[in-house]
Amino acid sequence: MMKLFFRKAKVVVFFAAWFLPIVEPAIAQLPLADVHIHYNWDQKELISAEEIVQKLKKSNIAFAVATSTPTELALELKRVGGDLIIPFFSPYTHEMGRHDWHLDPNTVALAKEGLSSQRYVGIGEVHFMSGFRPHTDNAVFRQLLNLAKTYSVPVLIHIDSGNERAFLRVCRQHPDVTFLFAHAGGNLHARHIQPIVEQCKNVLVELSARDPWRYGGLTDHDHQLLPSWRKLIIQFPDRFVTGTDPVWRVTRTQSWDQSDEGWDHFEKLLTYHHRWIDGLPEAVAKKIRVDNARRLFNR
Ligand SMILES: [Zn+2]
Ligand SMILES: [Zn+2]
Repeated sequence: MMKLFFRKAKVVVFFAAWFLPIVEPAIAQLPLADVHIHYNWDQKELISAEEIVQKLKKSNIAFAVATSTPTELALELKRVGGDLIIPFFSPYTHEMGRHDWHLDPNTVALAKEGLSSQRYVGIGEVHFMSGFRPHTDNAVFRQLLNLAKTYSVPVLIHIDSGNERAFLRVCRQHPDVTFLFAHAGGNLHARHIQPIVEQCKNVLVELSARDPWRYGGLTDHDHQLLPSWRKLIIQFPDRFVTGTDPVWRVTRTQSWDQSDEGWDHFEKLLTYHHRWIDGLPEAVAKKIRVDNARRLFNR
């Protein structure tokens, strides 16, 4: 009798499981400000502005700093995403602009027009590689920094170099400009970043692309902060922010004539950042996750 009961119960459970719709668990991620996203021409070939905004909303992104090549694409994202998107003026005003922006005085005129009309509320991402042109003292970049000061907007700057000196020069020379230091200098270690946070109060260090798939060097195999980084971030909890930087073409497995599928990796990158942030004391974690970025953008 008992055996029969169980057999019937099993059948009921089986049919219930068969007919009930599968409900996916909601993502219980806390709000996070993503200070480094791109919507570039070679990403637009694969994903629309609408799809990106959907991804951001679904992932509980509080707001996102958008920078694009060409720069107008950040405004396209803004038109769709509204308050969710903080568009920066990129000096890369055409598809190949990354290569000649520093030679074109018109870059400054376009930046001025975009900032004065408040269509853009920041400048960047601007890339430098130590030892290669453009140098950080080129005339166009200096004028862009003047505009950042005039309009009180932050500058997202990416400098690849072997030590902190290249960036320290810039942040010290321009104490009235607020800088977002992209990827904490890419290859740099916590010991390189400490002098920057100590000597340049005008800098927020951002930790995008320090994930295991790109620059790395931030966390261990379990995606927890390395002790040196943990110590530094806890010591200066108001000075760090993060972002996903969903650009994939920087990896060597892809060639430059292909579209960039970076947005396919967005959720994975975001989960990674939540993982190491959640390992911090909660008061610090909250600052990194969203509060520091809110302060920067008056949100
Ligand atoms: Zn970068
Ligand atoms: Zn970037």
